[in-house]
Amino acid sequence: MTSAAPIPSNERAEAPVYCDVSLPVPIDTAFTYRLPETLRRRVQPGCRILVPFGSRKLTGVILATHDRPQAGPTKEALRLLDEEPALDQSLLDLGRWIATYYCAPLGDTLRAMTPLAADVRRGRIYSLTPSGRDVARQLHLTEQEDPATAILRMLDGRALSATYIAQKVPKAAAVLRSLEKKGFVEAEDVAAERDPLRASAARLRVEFVSRTTDKLPKQERELLAYLELHPGQHNLATLEDTLPKASTAARALARRQLARLALEPVSGGTAPPRAPHTLNPHQQDAFEAIGAALASKQFQAFLLEGVTGSGKTEVYLSAIEAALATGRGALLLVPEIGLTPAVAGQFHRRFGDKAAILHSAFHDSERAQEWRRIRAGEASVVVATRSGVFAPVQNLGLIIVDEEHDQSYKQQDTPRYHGRDVAVVRARNQNAVIVLGSATPSLETGYNAERGKYARLVLPGRIEQRPMPAVSVIDMRQEFLETRKQATFSRALVDAVTERLENGEQTMLLLNRRGFSSFVACRACGERMQCVNCSVTLTYHKRDRRMLCHYCNYATPVPDRCLKCASDYLQFIGVGSERLEQELGAFFPKARIARLDRDTVGGKRDYETILAGFREHDYDILVGTQMIAKGHDIPNVTLVGIVNADLGLGLPDFRAAERTFQLLTQAAGRAGRGATPGIVLIQTITPEHYAIQCAAEQDYEKFYRKEIEFRRMMYYPPFGAMANIVIRSTNEEDALARSAALGRLMNPAPEGVRVMGPAPAPVLRVKTEYRYQMLLKTANRKRLSEVLAEIRKFAAAEKWGPANLAIDVDPMTLL
Ligand code: ADP
Ligand code: ZN
Ligand code: ZN
Repeated sequence: MTSAAPIPSNERAEAPVYCDVSLPVPIDTAFTYRLPETLRRRVQPGCRILVPFGSRKLTGVILATHDRPQAGPTKEALRLLDEEPALDQSLLDLGRWIATYYCAPLGDTLRAMTPLAADVRRGRIYSLTPSGRDVARQLHLTEQEDPATAILRMLDGRALSATYIAQKVPKAAAVLRSLEKKGFVEAEDVAAERDPLRASAARLRVEFVSRTTDKLPKQERELLAYLELHPGQHNLATLEDTLPKASTAARALARRQLARLALEPVSGGTAPPRAPHTLNPHQQDAFEAIGAALASKQFQAFLLEGVTGSGKTEVYLSAIEAALATGRGALLLVPEIGLTPAVAGQFHRRFGDKAAILHSAFHDSERAQEWRRIRAGEASVVVATRSGVFAPVQNLGLIIVDEEHDQSYKQQDTPRYHGRDVAVVRARNQNAVIVLGSATPSLETGYNAERGKYARLVLPGRIEQRPMPAVSVIDMRQEFLETRKQATFSRALVDAVTERLENGEQTMLLLNRRGFSSFVACRACGERMQCVNCSVTLTYHKRDRRMLCHYCNYATPVPDRCLKCASDYLQFIGVGSERLEQELGAFFPKARIARLDRDTVGGKRDYETILAGFREHDYDILVGTQMIAKGHDIPNVTLVGIVNADLGLGLPDFRAAERTFQLLTQAAGRAGRGATPGIVLIQTITPEHYAIQCAAEQDYEKFYRKEIEFRRMMYYPPFGAMANIVIRSTNEEDALARSAALGRLMNPAPEGVRVMGPAPAPVLRVKTEYRYQMLLKTANRKRLSEVLAEIRKFAAAEKWGPANLAIDVDPMTLL
C-alpha cells in the first residue's frame, strides 16, 4: 500500500456539502445552508443546527443533507448542536404527520418536539413570575416605555437570555436585578457546554476527576481529597452535612475540571420496593390481552375501561414489565396534574433507574438530562405529560395513555396536537401496542372501541369488591322551596359533613370556579365590572383584595363604588372556591380546611404539599376546583360533595355535557376508595339532565349511548372531522374585515364541507384581541385538509401575520 494513494472520489462525495433545515418561522419550506468543512462528516438528519436567518441566528432541525449545487449564494451554517440526532427518522416522520394533520408549520412542530426550547441559550435566562405576568399584562395599555416596562413586555410569554436583553435595553442588568428583587422576574442559569451546573445542591452529584498540583483554597482541597478517597458520585446536599461549604467548593472544583457535577436523576423518593399486587381476575384478563399483543410485536390499540378504583395502574405496571421483558421500552402518558411524586415514586420503586420522568414543571436542564438518559437507552420506562409523547424511547414497544379523556392532552398553541391521538399514530408507525385507559372514555375513543378499531378491556368493579360510592342528587330548587333560603350548602350536605367530622373521616368538596365571587354588579345602574382587555367580567379575589380576569390575568383593586354611576350599591354575585372555603369555616369552626385551586397552587410543589397534608389527615375537608377530581387515591375520604353541578352545562360548547359527566364521575370516584364505603352528594338545579343522571348512576355506557346519538345527529365529532378557525386582531374593524374576507372565501361552502360562521367568538375579546371564529365540519377528513390548506394559502397571499389566524383541528373547546 502506498501512502500516495488518492482518496477514492466516492468517499469524498460522501461528506455532504449542504443541508436542508426546517426553521421555526411561518414560511413552510426548508432552507438550504452550506456546511463548513468541519461539520460535513458530523451532520445527520434530525440534528439541530444553528444558522443565520436575516439578522438573527435560529436553531433548526436538519431534514436532509446533499450535494446538489445551489442556484444562488448560500449562507453557511454556524454550529451543530447535536452529535446524535435529537429526532430519529420515526420522530421526524411523526413531526411531518403532525404538521400536515394539524395544519402547523413544520419548523414550529419540530421545535415543540425537541426537549429544550431550541434557541441556543447560554448563561442566565430570565422569565416572568406569575405576579410579573400580571403586571406585564396590564402594561399592554400604558404608553410609557421605561426600561423596566420594556423588559416586562419583552418577557411576556417567553424566556430570554440576559445577553439578549442587554442588547435591547439600556442598563438592563441593574433593572433586571431590581425586577428580580420585586419578585416580577426570575432567573435560571442554563448550563452552557462547560459551565458547571448551577442547580441546587440537593439536585447535584459530584465526582472526583483528577488531582492537581495547584494550590487550592482549604475547602476545595479538603473536598477533593474526600472525593478521591470515596470514589463514585455524592449528593452535594448530603456532603454538606459533613463538609460545610461543600457545594460552593464542588462548583469551584468543577470549574477547574477537577471534579464533575451531574444532575441527580429525577426520582420520586427512596421508599423500598413494594411487592406488586396479585392481579385480580379482571386485571389478569386485561393484562393477558395486552401481553399477547406485545408478544406479536404488531400494532394494536386497546381501550382499558375501568371504573374509578378498579386498579388500572396495576395493569399498566404489569404491561410495562412485560414490554421490558421482551427488551422493549415503554411510555406512560399522564395528564398534566396527574404526575405527582406519589406516581413518580411508584415507578421508581418498581423500575429503579430504568424509569425516567418528564414533566413540564421541571427546569429545562432537568428535562434535558432525563431526555438524554432516555435516548441513550439507560431509561426504558418513561412517565411523562403531553409533550413526552415525543420522548426518544429506544425500541418502543408499549404506549399507555392514562385518563385518555383528559383535556390537558390537547396543546393549545401551535402545533395544536392531541397527545393521545399522536400517541396512537406513533404506536402504529413503530409497531407498538397502545393502551388508552379511563373510567370515562372520550366519545372519540368510545366510538373507536364500538367500531372495533380498539379492543375493549373492562374492569367492571373496584378492587377487593369494594362498593362504588352511593350517589344522591340534591335538587337545589326543592331545597330553596323548603328552606326559603338561597344557601350554598343543602341541609343534607351539612349533615353529611358533620357526620364525617365526628367519625374522623375526610370530605372533598368540588366547586369548579375559583375566586370569591364570580362578578361585581351595580344594583343602581346594572353595570358589571369588566376586564379592560377581554369581554368578560372580573372575578373578585378576596384574599388578594383585587378583581382578576381569568382570561388574561388583568388585575385591579376592588372598587368601593360603581365606576360608572358612582353609587355604592355594589353587589358581589356568585360563589367561588375561595368563598366556599370561608363559608365552610363559618359552618364548621373546628374543621381543618384546605383549598386546592390555581390560586392556592403557585407551583407543582404547593399542589403536592396540600395533597400530601390532606392524605396525612392534617385537614378534614379539601375544597377545590377540578384539580381535586383527578386521580387521587385517598382511602379516608368517605364523602364527596359537588356544590354546583350545573356550572359547566350552560357553556356554548358541544362538549359541555361530556365534560360535566366526566368531571362528576371522576369526582365521585374519589369517595370510598378505602375499607369504609363512601357517599357522594350532587347539588344541582337541573337534576333531570342526562349528564348529571348518568354521573349519579356512574353509568358510562348509558351516557355514551345518549351522547353519541346527539353527536351523530349534529355531525359533531367523532362523526366526521372538525376544525375551528379563529381570526384575531387587536383592532375590532380589522378582525371583522378579515373574518368577512374568509367568510367570502368559504361562500359558497366548499363541496362536502359545512361552514358555520364567521361569527364573534363566545368571548369576543381576549387579551386585547378581538376574535371571530368559523367552524368547519365534514365527513371527509381529506377534504378538511384541502380546505384548510386553501385557507392558509389565502392568508399567506393576503400577508396575514401568524397572530391573525389560528387553525385548531379536532378542537377540544370552542370557547
Ligand atoms: P384506578 O386508577 O383504576 O382508579 P388505582 O390504580 O388507583 O385505580 O387502584 C386503586 C387502589 O387499589 C390502589 O390503592 C391500588 O394500590 C390498589 N390495588 C390495585 N390492584 C390491586 C390488587 N390486585 N389487589 C389489591 N389492591 C390493588
Ligand atoms: Zn352603577
Ligand atoms: Zn382579561
